[in-house]
Amino acid sequence: MQDRLRALFCDHLSICRGKYLPGSKIGTDSSRFARATFAVHYDRDLLLDAPHTKVREGAPDMELRWQADDIRPGWEAGTQVVLGDLHDEDGPLSLCPRGALKRAVADWQRHGLTPKLGIELEAFALQGDPSGRLRPYDAPGGVVYGTGPFADPMHINDAIWRKAEELGFRLDMITAEYDSPQFEYTLTFDDALKAVDDIVLFRQMAREVALNHGIVLTFLPKPIPELGGSGMHINLSFTDAQGNNALANGPKGGPEHLNDLARGCLSGLVKHHKGLAGLVAPTAGSYLRLQPGAMSGYWQNWGGDHRGVTTRISGEGGDKARLEHRMADASANPYTAAAAVLQAARLGFDNAYPLPPMETGDGFDKTDARVGTAPTLRHAMRDLAADTALARAVGVELVEHLIFMKEREFRKTRDLEPNALLDFYVWFL
Ligand code: GLU
Ligand code: MG
Repeated sequence: MQDRLRALFCDHLSICRGKYLPGSKIGTDSSRFARATFAVHYDRDLLLDAPHTKVREGAPDMELRWQADDIRPGWEAGTQVVLGDLHDEDGPLSLCPRGALKRAVADWQRHGLTPKLGIELEAFALQGDPSGRLRPYDAPGGVVYGTGPFADPMHINDAIWRKAEELGFRLDMITAEYDSPQFEYTLTFDDALKAVDDIVLFRQMAREVALNHGIVLTFLPKPIPELGGSGMHINLSFTDAQGNNALANGPKGGPEHLNDLARGCLSGLVKHHKGLAGLVAPTAGSYLRLQPGAMSGYWQNWGGDHRGVTTRISGEGGDKARLEHRMADASANPYTAAAAVLQAARLGFDNAYPLPPMETGDGFDKTDARVGTAPTLRHAMRDLAADTALARAVGVELVEHLIFMKEREFRKTRDLEPNALLDFYVWFL
């Protein structure tokens, strides 16, 4: 029997949507979906006035198009999988997050630089209790950097690891994070689009493999209020025309060895700090995670090997020189988040904004930075609306649409208790 094809796109809510297509269609390269999908909210509310979704114009189709070369083995039996880009009759769909990342890559390539990304995902594992409520996965022996069955008694991560290897994902590591049952998954640096395609499929695969073992693996930023947050740290570097790491300034890394490219990127990430939050941390819980002292990219600052700053400069130099942006969480669409970070960095490189001095505080009791990310999703969306340069770079229509959807999301979630907040999101993220 011929494999079927699972054709997917990752939408404005960071949900993977798609279709199974028969094996006879593996040779085709597109499938149509209602564009009004972009007007649907987590609670399935269809927002008739969501901008650029054309719900009131007959809810017409959009087209998902993929490349035959991008079809790859899937994690379900007899199923291949592919990610694509969305189009309408005029060309690329302005709301398509993967399209926004392609534009960000092309904008850097005009400078002769190819962006490379290495993405870290953190997640909590939950399981149902006898009454059907979700509670933390029972792993009382878990410790930070825990490995083995004390951290993961049901060997969920062994199953995820094996599947990832089988499918050709390039894993850098899996370990237990600070809180139990919290885990981290890191994939190896790659070209930006490939790295994000891999993160989107890896996250989906990991959630589905875990669910098949009775575990809900959630990438929500703060699913358990009394425990820590989960981030999606975005490490970036660039290769030049010769294939060398363009952030390298000799064999040593760290803040003493910055070149103009690194300084430019830092200046952009600092200047667009508040605007970025709405794009990279777009759910109610994101603002429970983005707090002072949480090692999570709250402060408008940068520094060396310092987990209390938002952009951390690796101590490794040469080929491994890189910047780590620590604000995003995986409730963001990973394409949108990566596009936003790359565009903010590029605006800094293009405009050489002044770079404030690096952070010298400990990030707990003392911080030089005085400005942080917004206190709520609603405020973050206002900050994003105010950052017109960032919106123009990422895509005006995509940003207008996101602000509309997230303003409604704020209204839907603002009075929810933490448990109800978890229920609102957990099956999706
Ligand atoms: N869990 C922290 C966050 O929310 C990051 C911890 C770390 O890996 O440094 O971003
Ligand atoms: Mg971590």
